[in-house]
Amino acid sequence: MNARIQDRVAAPQFRLLINGQLVAGASTFDVINPATEQVIAACPRADAAQLDAAVAAAKAAFPAWSAKSLAERRRLLTALADALAARSDEFARLLTSEQGKPLAHAAGEIAGAVEMIRTFAAMDLPIKILRETASSRIVQHRTPLGVVAAITPWNFPMILLMVKVAPALLAGNTVVAKPAPTTPLTTLLFGEICAQVLPAGTVNVITDQNDLGTALTTHPDVAKVAFTGSTATGKKVLASVASTLKRLTLELGGNDAAIVLDDVDVKKVAPQIFFGAMLNTGQVCLAIKRVYVHDSQYEELCSELAKLAETAVVGDGMDPETQFGPLQNKSQYEKVKGFIDDARKRGTIIAGGTTTGDRGYFIRPTIVRDIPDDARLVREEQFGPVLPVLRYSDLDDAIARANDSDYGLGGTVWSSNPERAYDVALRIDSGTVWVNTHLDIPPDVPFAGAKQSGLGAELGQEGLEEFTQAKIVNVAR
Ligand code: NAD
Repeated sequence: MNARIQDRVAAPQFRLLINGQLVAGASTFDVINPATEQVIAACPRADAAQLDAAVAAAKAAFPAWSAKSLAERRRLLTALADALAARSDEFARLLTSEQGKPLAHAAGEIAGAVEMIRTFAAMDLPIKILRETASSRIVQHRTPLGVVAAITPWNFPMILLMVKVAPALLAGNTVVAKPAPTTPLTTLLFGEICAQVLPAGTVNVITDQNDLGTALTTHPDVAKVAFTGSTATGKKVLASVASTLKRLTLELGGNDAAIVLDDVDVKKVAPQIFFGAMLNTGQVCLAIKRVYVHDSQYEELCSELAKLAETAVVGDGMDPETQFGPLQNKSQYEKVKGFIDDARKRGTIIAGGTTTGDRGYFIRPTIVRDIPDDARLVREEQFGPVLPVLRYSDLDDAIARANDSDYGLGGTVWSSNPERAYDVALRIDSGTVWVNTHLDIPPDVPFAGAKQSGLGAELGQEGLEEFTQAKIVNVAR
């Protein structure tokens, strides 16, 4: 563990950010390193009064922030990106300590967070002339909404925060950020940077133990909720904003299918499918969560995936050899073990299925074959390193089975004939479908879940406009 983080452990220095001040919480709670089960920090815990103070600060900062020119907000966002980049090693180590992912992946997430801020800083909200005639001029402006609540989960705490904070700020909104209680530290550290770079109140950071979400989403002074998390919580958030009709973006769970067409080179696609399922120990909303393979290639693909699972290196993310870290928290670890127990009864585990060591929430990459479509592992979102491989003989049937889900986040199609795969992609009911690639998520391309995987979009111009009100000015001539 790096020295700066050890210092924090010895004398907890993590602070909430409220109105430009780094302040202690009303109480504290422990943050656990999932690889060691050791307490790494006492995290400040905000109470309802601190939440109110954070929202009040954001509300007070809004008039001045929204009045700044786009060029000035862009300049400050770029300064924020520079400040984050300058401390990227410290952020990456802290991210591995609290989240568990391999250090190289944590560094990638921080680099992605910097890139996210820079991408939005370069974007624009042009005024659009919708009609220009002799008798009328109709113009569309994009105006900021006010205070944005940015609520994030524990799998990618930094990148998912920036997807919200950067466009919200560029559009002229102010922010109250609330991370997940098991990965709050990087968001608090980001608060330190915001305190240095931004005017007081522009960004505020509070942390909770899953108890302040409703107070934030129902708060009368919050104009928009940008939420990433589970579908179950997303439904509660949707209900909670109804009384104030807040603007809302929901990025929720997924159960993405990979459809492998009968013409693939199995040895070539197997590693892509494996890493697409197991990245971040399977804790990716867009991870491959079910694989449909043609009869003719079922045996070969199962055996290739099993080989990859058997040789995978699972361990502490601080070890440079590690490919897959632990599950992020005890409750997710127990949940994934439950999926494995059920899969053992309903199907055949051909690799993994075991925990490792006597400390840490480690589960080896697990491949399950010959499991029926109604098994939990096929129907539900496992959000862990356990992949069911399902057989099909008729492509229409495979597509129907892939679509037979309440989720509709992503999906992949694998084929040596991209045009054929493209036609299949068009028939998948989800917001994003990749062909012969996976998890390519350019920040300038919109990302939106279909069905119960979300509402609204993040990223791209659409993702930026979600933080604005379209204002039409209609002038008679
Ligand atoms: P979660 O829903 O338990 O928590 C997400 C956030 O919501 C946390 O900050 C939590 O404290 C907060 N929260 C809890 N109760 C709340 C309430 N009543 N009101 C408002 N906020 C509340 O999700 P999680 O377990 O942290 O994350 C895993 C889930 O997130 C998975 O389902 C995954 O697929 C999903 N996810 C989706 C995307 C996407 O972009 N679609 C990305 C990453 C993760």
